Amino acid sequence: MADIENVIIIGSGPAGYTAGLYTARANLTPLVIEGFMWGGLLQQTTEVENFPGWPDGGISGPELMTKMRAQAEDFGARFITDQATSVKLAQEPGGIHEVHVGSDVHRARTVILSMGAEHKKLGVPGEAELAGAGVSYCATCDAAFFKDQVIMVVGGGDSALEEAMFLAKFGRKVVLVHRRDELRASQIMQARARAMENIEFKTPYVVEEFHEGDGPFKRVAKLKKTGTDETEEVEIGGAFIAIGHEPQSEIVDGVIEVDDEGYVKVDGRSTRTNLPGVFAAGDLVDHTYRQAITAAGSGCQAALDAEWYLRDTPQVPTPEGLPEGDLAEAQWAPTQTA
Ligand code: NAP
Repeated sequence: MADIENVIIIGSGPAGYTAGLYTARANLTPLVIEGFMWGGLLQQTTEVENFPGWPDGGISGPELMTKMRAQAEDFGARFITDQATSVKLAQEPGGIHEVHVGSDVHRARTVILSMGAEHKKLGVPGEAELAGAGVSYCATCDAAFFKDQVIMVVGGGDSALEEAMFLAKFGRKVVLVHRRDELRASQIMQARARAMENIEFKTPYVVEEFHEGDGPFKRVAKLKKTGTDETEEVEIGGAFIAIGHEPQSEIVDGVIEVDDEGYVKVDGRSTRTNLPGVFAAGDLVDHTYRQAITAAGSGCQAALDAEWYLRDTPQVPTPEGLPEGDLAEAQWAPTQTA
C-alpha cells in the first residue's frame, strides 16, 4: 500500500510554515512542498518591523522565514524544495488526495493550500531587467534607497496611494502614474494623498517602458498618454509598481472554487474549501490584509481545521488503498515573473 501522508502543505510563506509548525506539533508529520523559492514574498523584503516579537529594529524577511522553517522542522515537518506541478483532489469526505511534484506522486488525507500571491507586473520592457535595481513592488522594503530622488508610483488604487504617501516622506517628489483620470482608491486616501505637496498626479498615462538613463536620477520611464500617441520621458530614481496582487492559484484552477480574481474561496471564517479535506490559508485567500502576521494566523487555522477533519473523518480505503471516488485534476502552469 502506498504511503499516505496525514497532511501535505503546498507553499511556504508564513501561512505554510505556520501550518507546518502546528501540524507537526500535532504529530501529523506534515510534508511541506515549499517550492524552489521557499519563503514567499517575505524573501524579497528587507527589515520586517511589524511582526510581533522582534523589538529593536525587527528582523529581516529571509531570516524570519528561515526561523519559521526551522521551528516547523524541529517538530518533525519535512520539506520538498520543489514545485508542486499538479494535483488530483478527492471529491468525497475521507478520500485520498494526490499532489504531483514532476513525476513523483504524494498522497495525503488532507491538503493545505498556501501558495500565496505575487505582485502583479506591468509587463512592459525594462520592468523585469530593472526589478530590484530601480523597479520595486514594495515601498516599505525599498523606499530608503530613493532618498531625495524623484520616485514614480504606478497604479490608482489604495495600495498605490499608500505607497505614494509613504514614499513622499523619502523622495524629493513622487509622480503617481495612473491609466485613467479617475482613481480607484477610496476618497479618504485620495484626499490625504492630494494634500501632500510633493505628490504629482500624472493621469491618464501608462508606462510604455523603463530604461537606464544617464541623468542624475539614473532611470527613465517612458510614458504614453492614454488614448493618444503622445509620449514623454520622465527621469526617475526608481519606480514602484502597485497595481494589485495575483493569487497563485493556478495549480487548483478549475478544481477548487475561486472568486473572480482567483482567490480561493473558504467557508466563512474557516479555512475549508469546497472540497473535503482541502484547506486554504494566507494570501491565497486574502484580498484585504495580506500581512505576514495575518497569513501566519490563517496557517494556524488551516492546521487546526486539518487536524479536526482527520479526527472526525474516517478514511475511505479502496481494496488497493489508493484513491477512492472521483478525482478532480489540475495542472500547474508557471506564471510570468519578473
Ligand atoms: P486595486 O484596488 O485592484 O487597484 C489596482 C490599481 O492598479 C487600479 O487603479 C488599476 O487601474 C491599476 N492597474 C491594474 N492593472 C494595471 C495595469 N496592467 N496597468 C496599469 N494599471 C493597472 O488593488 P490595490 O490598490 O492593491 O488594493 C487591493 C485591496 O486592498 C483594495 O480593496 C483596497 O481597498 C485594499 N487596500 C486598502 C488599503 C487601506 O485601506 N489602507 C491599503 C491598500 C489596499 P484601474 O483603476 O484602471 O482598474
